[in-house]
Amino acid sequence: MSNSADSLQRFSFDHTAIRGELTHLNTSYRDVLKRHNYPPVVARAVGELMAATALLSGSLKFAGRLTLQIRLTGNITLLQAETNEKGQLRAIARYDDLAEQSELKVTDGQMIITIEPEVGQRYQGITLISGGNVAGALEDYFQQSEQLGSRFWLTCDGENAAGFMLQQMPSAEGDDPDAWDRLGHLASTMKDEELLHLNNDVLLHRLYHEEQVRIYPASALSFFCTCSKDRIGNALHQLGKAELQSILDEQSKVTISCEFCQQAYSFDQAQVDELFPEEKLQ
Ligand SMILES: [Zn+2]
Repeated sequence: MSNSADSLQRFSFDHTAIRGELTHLNTSYRDVLKRHNYPPVVARAVGELMAATALLSGSLKFAGRLTLQIRLTGNITLLQAETNEKGQLRAIARYDDLAEQSELKVTDGQMIITIEPEVGQRYQGITLISGGNVAGALEDYFQQSEQLGSRFWLTCDGENAAGFMLQQMPSAEGDDPDAWDRLGHLASTMKDEELLHLNNDVLLHRLYHEEQVRIYPASALSFFCTCSKDRIGNALHQLGKAELQSILDEQSKVTISCEFCQQAYSFDQAQVDELFPEEKLQ
């Protein structure tokens, strides 16, 4: 698979307890961008967050959803990307007009990782963002929650996004004790253009030609929105009947668009009534 395809590819290093992942997002990233009119600084941040989410999806071993959220206090208040075990991605940003001119600063904020299996317990981990960027926050998260050394490199040029991860696994006897520092240092020499545009084989050879790298088959990633009329209906239900009725009285239907994909859903009087079956009984 060339990196013109949206993909996630794992690799590992023989005689070490270190694994890695490489991701490229092209079509799926542009599918998100074309549904929104994000200022460049926001668009790039969304791309980096999608790349980070794709890297994290490698750890989803069951049917369910993984959500990566960055909550900030500046002009950009929310960045969110989601994925599932099928490699489907969607993303969103909330920001005010000032984001047009400003640089993204992520010094004050929280990174929230939520894992929701279709069957089983929901998990949520919250990390303060102190490293100044998303990659730094992810490294802090894995250090705090899993006691695993992790390094992340994320980049986005506004059309393509890419990510690179190295992760320490529990080590075995005979593993090379210097490998973690050496492999991380070599990855740090990688330029953003190399991560964005080189094929994985070429990039890994360029960085690690003196190492024994094992590359596993890539899996495909794509944009997909999980919204549905049922889910939008559940969200409307939370607004309450009175609120919806006042809209119906004015406009004859309630129309709401999915925040992720902009798909519009309309509910007429009968459909709104159906959302509140408990009120029919009274
Ligand atoms: Zn949607």
